[in-house]
Parts: sequence; C-alpha cells; structure tokens
Amino acid sequence: SGKQLVAIVTGANKGIGKGIVERLAAKFDGSYLAQSTGASSLLIYLTARDESRGLAALSSLRASAASSVSIEFAQLDIDSKQSIDALAESMKSRHGQIDVLINNAAIASKGPNFDEHVVETTLKTNYYATKEMCLAFLPLLNREHGRLINVSSTGGVLTRLSSPALASQFRSALTIPAVDTLMQQFRDDVRSNTWKEKGWYASGYAVSKMGVTALTRALANENKDKGLLINAVCPGWVKTDMAGDKAPKTVEQGAVTPVMLALDDIKGKTGTFWNDSGEYNW
Ligand code: NDP
Repeated sequence: SGKQLVAIVTGANKGIGKGIVERLAAKFDGSYLAQSTGASSLLIYLTARDESRGLAALSSLRASAASSVSIEFAQLDIDSKQSIDALAESMKSRHGQIDVLINNAAIASKGPNFDEHVVETTLKTNYYATKEMCLAFLPLLNREHGRLINVSSTGGVLTRLSSPALASQFRSALTIPAVDTLMQQFRDDVRSNTWKEKGWYASGYAVSKMGVTALTRALANENKDKGLLINAVCPGWVKTDMAGDKAPKTVEQGAVTPVMLALDDIKGKTGTFWNDSGEYNW
C-alpha cells in the first residue's frame, strides 16, 4: 500500500471542527493533495480536549469514512502546553511528520463579552493557544506540501477598529513578536480602560481573531520558501453551539472552505485569508 498522509483537526468533537473531519474524509480520494503527493490514504486525528466527547464524535463518523481514510481520536487541550507537546511528540515518533493541521478550536463568551476577564480568557485560547499549536507543529509539517489552516473569522475584520493607524499596524505585523505586541497592547488598553481612545473594538473575540489572521500572515511570511501553505479562513456564519440557531449555514457548509484550503490546488497561495465566497480583503 502507498504513502499515507496525516491530518490533525483541533476542537473536532462538535461543530465546524467535526464537519471538517467529516469533509476531509469524504473529499480526500481524488483530491489534488492525494494526487500531487501520490498518497493512497489519509489518517485524520479527530482531537478534543474531552476524551468522552471526542470518542462519541468519532464513533458517529467512522462508519461514513471512505476505506482509504481512517480517523483516530487524540486528546488535545490547546490551552495546555503540556497537552500540545505530548501530541507533537507522539506524532513525531509515530509518523515523523504530518501533512495537514487545521486549528479550529476556539471559544466565544456567551455572557458579557467585554470585560478584562473575558478578554483575557478569549485571547488565551483563540490567539495564544493557537500560536502554541502552530509553533509546536510547524517543525513537523511536510516541507514539500504541508498545509496549515487557522480558522479565523471575518468578525475580526480590521475596519472594526476605529483607528486606521491601528488597522495598518495589524496589516504590517509580519512577524510573530509584532503580532504578540498588538495582542499585549489590547490587553493593556482594556486593563487601563483606554481601549476606546486607542481605537480598539469592544469584543475580545473579534480582536482575538484579528490576532489569528495576523498570526497566520506572520507565520507564512516567516516560513516562505519552505513549501508550506499557511492560510486563514472564516467558515461563514454557521449554526453551532457557538453561533446559535439563527446562523444560516450548516456545519457541512462551514467545512467547505477550510477543507478546500487543505486538499485543493490553491496555486501555492500562502498568508492569505479566505471566507466562504473566496479570498477576503482583510
Ligand atoms: P463550537 O463552540 O461549536 O466548537 C468549538 C470547538 O472547539 C469545540 O469542540 C470545543 O470543545 C473546542 N475547544 C474550545 N476550547 C478548546 C481547547 N482549549 N482545546 C481544545 N478544544 C477546544 O464552535 P464552532 O464550531 O462554531 O467554531 C469553530 C471555529 O469556527 C472557531 O474557531 C470559531 O471561532 C470559528 N468561527 C465560527 C463561526 C460560526 O458562525 N459558527 C463564524 C466564524 C468563525 P468543547 O466541546 O470541549 O468545548
């Protein structure tokens, strides 16, 4: 049997992450990634922070996967550096390298969505933990065709910043320290209650996703010429526990663009941001 590719999806026990695992499994055969790498099979790690929720999701999916695709569960809490390092170690020893990483896990406050505590916890998971994932797994990504996809949001569009200078700082933040500085500035300005005059937008979630998109551009910039394709995507407004019932899209529809960025011929694009209707002008 031929070469096997390895994909990892975070926060995949429900919602869009689960939809991504399902669609990766359905679309792998005959995909550009399969053809261009000569791979005949794909192993997908459905990861979740909670083992029982992850295993329940896995058992609901296994039956529908094509025979060339296998799906396994791996525990991963992206808030824990120890958990991230343990999975990276295990991938390294089991497979040597991986081919696709989709950072989908994130949180959004259901209660008050703008106070110091909410900003702190939201940035911790959505920005800092996603960054840790990228840094831990980038060295394992295949140098010829590896794909890293960060699920961001057009909720983090830069026009929500009332300061054009701040927006342009985001656009020109092409290194990780530069993006870290912006995230730190936001936390400081929330703490000192000067966020409004500094031009921020009153949502920890939106700003965390500005950080994720900027992080993706910075990673692409810092890793260009390595053959890696590193992109960000907004799945659209999707009916999930996070977005609620009013959202128009199904998780199957929300998975379309993330999976496209993982499997299709994207013409070498890296450092770009997509939404559900194409490349997005951030
Ligand atoms: P859900 O809340 O339905 O699912 C979020 C997933 O992330 C869950 O599996 C959750 O696990 C997991 N998760 C949260 N924190 C962690 C953590 N520390 N470690 C590991 N897993 C974690 O959200 P969606 O499916 O709607 O969102 C998926 C992605 O899409 C997110 O990045 C979100 O920001 C983005 N997005 C969603 C939109 C929408 O309309 N739905 C719009 C734009 C972007 P658990 O079950 O254990 O909580």
